[in-house]
Amino acid sequence: MTGADDDFPADIDPQDAFQLFSHELRLEILFALWNAPDYALPFSEIQAAVDERDSGKFTYHLGKLTDHFVTEIDGQYVLQYAGHRVIDAIQSGVFHTAPTVSPTDAPGACPHCGTTPTFEYANHLATVSCTECETKLIEYPFDPGGFQDRTLAAAIEAFDERTKYKWQMASGGICLVCAGRISVKYVRSPTELDRHDRYTDFFADDQPAVFHVSCQNCSFFSYIPVGVRLLGSPKVVGSLARRGIDVTDQFLWELPFVTDADCVAVEETDPWRVQVDAPTPTGTIAVTLGDDADITSITESL
Ligand SMILES: [Zn+2]
Ligand SMILES: [Zn+2]
Repeated sequence: MTGADDDFPADIDPQDAFQLFSHELRLEILFALWNAPDYALPFSEIQAAVDERDSGKFTYHLGKLTDHFVTEIDGQYVLQYAGHRVIDAIQSGVFHTAPTVSPTDAPGACPHCGTTPTFEYANHLATVSCTECETKLIEYPFDPGGFQDRTLAAAIEAFDERTKYKWQMASGGICLVCAGRISVKYVRSPTELDRHDRYTDFFADDQPAVFHVSCQNCSFFSYIPVGVRLLGSPKVVGSLARRGIDVTDQFLWELPFVTDADCVAVEETDPWRVQVDAPTPTGTIAVTLGDDADITSITESL
């Protein structure tokens, strides 16, 4: 059962929708509209933009995109939400590019030893590690689009912000890819569920438990540190701020309650109860997470 009006009917068969773009002219039409003022052009201007002189052929392909991806309003063909999302998926870069970034200094400091961490990027995965501790602090996918129109330093900052946001949303049950419902469950390690050796070098494998987040509508899944739940609590964030720790000034890899296994303790597994300690200059903020990943108690010690 769904909350949508008609039980989520398919207006177009999903495979047919993708098949539509097997002809390059159709993508060229979408890109012409993307580049146009207000994402709209009259028929003749799209035809000129894509340089297709055969009007019959052009009309046929434009017709295939109407009305789902493009719609005609007052003599203009206007890019629709679905058309925007096709462009967005392409511009994320994941389908056609796989850039690499050689190890370079990352901002902030390793929470274990204070050394400047290292950022590198390959196979759509960004990794921040500490060469001094020989520890992988954070690793998470980042779309190649993140490096466009940014300096490398700005791209690393964007990776930090975006990952924080994605982890908070996913652990809160909302998929940022498709808006679907995410199931959030504790696991001791990704290797409990994964049978393909993809997590043999998982950055949080020293932690006693992590979240397995899995979208019930699309293919999005991930394993993320449980401590990220603290970032979504105004009470915890406020308490840390009163003790001089502004989490908005800190990179994800600098937050001990996200990266340090010593800050996480499993107290129960049936139902799950996990304690995450956020160290402060004078004591600890102890946060308990319940079976559904929500915060059930916050205890501050000076
Ligand atoms: Zn270190
Ligand atoms: Zn999804």
